Amino acid sequence: MPVPVVISGPSGVGKNTVLGRILATCPETAYCLSTTCRPPRGGERDGVDYHFLTRPAFEAAVAAGEFVEWAEVHGQLYGTRRADLEAHLSAGRDVLLQKDVQGGMALSAAYPEALLIYLLPPSWEELERRLTGRATDEPNEIARRLETARRENEMARHNTHWEVNDALEETITAVQHIILGDRYRKIRVSA
Ligand code: ADP
Ligand code: 5GP
Repeated sequence: MPVPVVISGPSGVGKNTVLGRILATCPETAYCLSTTCRPPRGGERDGVDYHFLTRPAFEAAVAAGEFVEWAEVHGQLYGTRRADLEAHLSAGRDVLLQKDVQGGMALSAAYPEALLIYLLPPSWEELERRLTGRATDEPNEIARRLETARRENEMARHNTHWEVNDALEETITAVQHIILGDRYRKIRVSA
């Protein structure tokens, strides 16, 4: 049985990097696009970066119970639609999602079998280096993200797996093993 696989962790720890590599190397995995009511930013495309909805359409979908989880972030609505998730699961693919700890917890309420993988930085100094090195955020935004990271780390006990993203190749292998191990465990149980 395929499962949702949620990758969480502080901004800059390497979630996107790891997720991209797992999708490229782990057969039968797929990425579940989120839905948002925020307008597309330059170059973003509907169905590629997000499913973009108007706010009224998003709110109607919430009222109709279409979301497994949703949240308001910086004044905009974001969420995971059950139909998007189920489309991949019923096609036999483990579904990778990137969520904050709260989003992961909400998802596991609906899918208790979900794997919740929390990535940790080797140190705060290294996390700061990665955020700075990525060169996408101003210093005050980096400080805000580091503060959020401390709060997230305190909630990380709700996750089912933890990996320190130090050497990237080792992290990729560890995450692959979590996913493959879960598949193997079920084969053994049902055999
Ligand atoms: P997130 O999605 O968690 O915000 P990113 O995947 O954007 O983080 O990674 C942040 C920066 O850290 C990027 O520049 C990325 O290349 C780098 N990075 C990711 N994993 C590692 C690693 N294991 N070692 C060193 N740098 C890394
Ligand atoms: P951005 O607008 O920069 O693309 O995303 C802002 C934030 O929205 C992300 O960092 C993430 O925390 C949150 N977000 C994106 N997609 C989802 C989702 O499907 N569910 C939840 N709960 N939050 C999301």
